[in-house]
Amino acid sequence: MKLQKNIALKQYHSFACEEMASFFTSVTSKEALIEAIDWAFNNNQPYLILGSGTNILFTKQFNGLVIKIDFTGIQKLQETASELILQVGAGEIWSHFVSYCVQKSWGGLENLSLIPGTVGAAPINNISAYGIEVSEHIVSVDAYDTLKKKWVTIPNIECAFGYKSSIFKKEVNRFIISSVLFKLSKQPFLRTDYGAIKSVLHARGVTNPSVESIASAVIYIRSNHWPDPKKLPNAGSFFKNPMITKNQYDALIQQFPSLMAYPITDNTYKIAAGWLLEACGWKGIIKDQVGCFKDKVLVIVNFGATNGKSILDFSDAIIESVKVKFGVVIEKGINIL
Ligand SMILES: Cc1cc2nc3c(=O)[nH]c(=O)nc-3n(C[C@H](O)[C@H](O)[C@H](O)COP(=O)(O)OP(=O)(O)OC[C@H]3O[C@@H](n4cnc5c(N)ncnc54)[C@H](O)[C@@H]3O)c2cc1C
Repeated sequence: MKLQKNIALKQYHSFACEEMASFFTSVTSKEALIEAIDWAFNNNQPYLILGSGTNILFTKQFNGLVIKIDFTGIQKLQETASELILQVGAGEIWSHFVSYCVQKSWGGLENLSLIPGTVGAAPINNISAYGIEVSEHIVSVDAYDTLKKKWVTIPNIECAFGYKSSIFKKEVNRFIISSVLFKLSKQPFLRTDYGAIKSVLHARGVTNPSVESIASAVIYIRSNHWPDPKKLPNAGSFFKNPMITKNQYDALIQQFPSLMAYPITDNTYKIAAGWLLEACGWKGIIKDQVGCFKDKVLVIVNFGATNGKSILDFSDAIIESVKVKFGVVIEKGINIL
């Protein structure tokens, strides 16, 4: 095991703050992962599993071992005339994997083009965009169960997938994902109903959409609307859309008729967190080199803060303002360390 000491984490997470880790290692095999976990246990060190660091905010030094998952490989396990099953290493870059599928016209993941991060982290948050959740295409997840101390395969039905959630998020630190099994289609059901995708396809004169034309539209939309973390460090949407009861909704809509909210069940509504933030005046606001992106208020950008604590404080001020104005508590959608 190649162990590095006192490593600056700046290059390993997309908020690019200057926090340090006491120990760092990269693992490319199951054996190396077990060796790293054993080392942490024997040396009384906590450990943290890291993918691309695009959903993490470090607010202080990590006193322990950071284990970066670098398992790679895309393997075709089954293929029929209509579909295929692929096993993909957890360390593969998500957007590269999606491009690989799109180039072969294998459908299912095209709406999730260009989302940053690794394949192994995708099931954790059940990544979603433009009307698709990744769970719709996951057959099972291979992981090391740190509780039972054995390798397990968790079928989709047992992953408890929901909006930005899964068993991997609920049982924090229990499972370390080594690979994910995806089912893709050669005759995909294309999802073009999302407004922005529809507009781009229309503007481009696409009347008969394909996996490729949808991926290209999504890449175009994302490139124009999301800040590139390499230029403007960020971790995507910082907050989740909050859920409220119908009674709360009825009271809020009376007071704020333009409230953006959607019914989820008979008694539950999901509010657009972006609308709440804009209504509180956060769009484009920058304080102490941390701010809300001008085109996407939910994205908090690090404009030069060296420590993650400033970003955390900024996000807490947002949460408080929403609570005061609307009585609604918005939750952070990223991992705070
Ligand atoms: C510009 C931008 C746009 C984004 N847009 C979207 C979007 O449209 N939709 C969306 O859903 N998300 C979006 N995100 C969020 C982010 O891309 C995803 O959450 C992504 O899946 C994180 O992957 P990662 O490898 O960077 O995870 P990391 O940040 O490295 O880790 C995230 C969490 O998963 C754990 N983890 C990582 N890998 C493993 C593993 N192999 N086994 C066990 N635990 C692990 C970590 O310990 C941590 O708790 C965006 C982020 C950015 C920066």
